[in-house]
Amino acid sequence: MQTNSNDHRDERPRTGFAWDEWFMWHNTGRGGGLVLAGGWVEPHGMVDNPEPKRRLKNLMDRSGLTEQLVPIKSRPATEEELCYFHTADHMALVREGSKGMGGMAGPYVPFGADTFEIARRAAGALLETVDHVLDGKVDNAYALLYPPGHHAQAHQGLGNCIFGNVVIAAHHARRVRGVARVAIVDFDVHHGNGAQEAFYDDPSVLTISIHQRGWFTLKGEVSERGEGAGDGANINIPLPAGSGNGAFISAFERAIVPALHRFKPDLILVAAGYDAGSFDVTGRMIVTTDAFRTMSRMLIDAAATLCAGRIIFEHEGGYNPTATLFSALAVVEELSGIATGVEDPFDPLVADCPDLMLLPHQEEIIDQVVEAFGLQ
Ligand SMILES: [Zn+2]
Repeated sequence: MQTNSNDHRDERPRTGFAWDEWFMWHNTGRGGGLVLAGGWVEPHGMVDNPEPKRRLKNLMDRSGLTEQLVPIKSRPATEEELCYFHTADHMALVREGSKGMGGMAGPYVPFGADTFEIARRAAGALLETVDHVLDGKVDNAYALLYPPGHHAQAHQGLGNCIFGNVVIAAHHARRVRGVARVAIVDFDVHHGNGAQEAFYDDPSVLTISIHQRGWFTLKGEVSERGEGAGDGANINIPLPAGSGNGAFISAFERAIVPALHRFKPDLILVAAGYDAGSFDVTGRMIVTTDAFRTMSRMLIDAAATLCAGRIIFEHEGGYNPTATLFSALAVVEELSGIATGVEDPFDPLVADCPDLMLLPHQEEIIDQVVEAFGLQ
């Protein structure tokens, strides 16, 4: 589904694009793919590396997309801004390690020289992006950040994530910019634990995560729904392994979009990971570029209705270096209304897979969510 074209240039939104070449210099080292090398694991590259992001930027450049977007420069998030979410100890550990050869910022978070400066620029780029959207300099935006952030916890990094970019951005919107209600929608295949933990008792930030159940981080159950005043403002949709387009789109139609309409956010932040893609090495889902396009369109349409189109997608996971980028490009096309003519050459490989459709055991989970949160 492609809903916009170059025929309507005047009606196109001004879409911001945050990027910094320095992001690509974040060095996760020579490890064992998903784990550290050592023992019986021979050193190899890490699955989390700059390549999928760099190749997305290359494709955006070559297709002519980048030059039609409004560039948003990164800036280093200040230590005060990082501490909206993080402890001073976590920040100091990354800062000191970055002066030398690097270290571990938490479980499964190897980092190298200069990572503190690079990671605080990723966080700062998203703060700049929020300001651009709230100030009306752009209508919406895509932030191609690296390193990612959605697993980072207050006291440590987790799962490739150094600082919680989207959490810090939501705090910035609330505390500094006075935005009353922020929604965070996370469609990375891994649970968006960082936002859940940060805003678990906060009714002013709706956190929604759709992910593969029982996968990294082993949490994200339907029963984790927030507490105190925040009860009901944390929605998890833990789909079974093997879920495809049908399950994801149904979850968006029946749970995510209705939850957004009920919450009425003033700003929507999307933690956009592409590791639910059919060919990702870290997820076990079958989501095609067409479905990523449809899901993002639903969120963009909700933003148009609910908050004057104020929506920002910030890049999270997606680890297939040749396939991930086509799904992300489609999302930027939907945001900007620009059709590049680039087609995903991987989607046809799974086009006839019967498991693309919504299956009963997947629908059961969506039913549970709809019922638990009264979204009928
Ligand atoms: Zn992920």
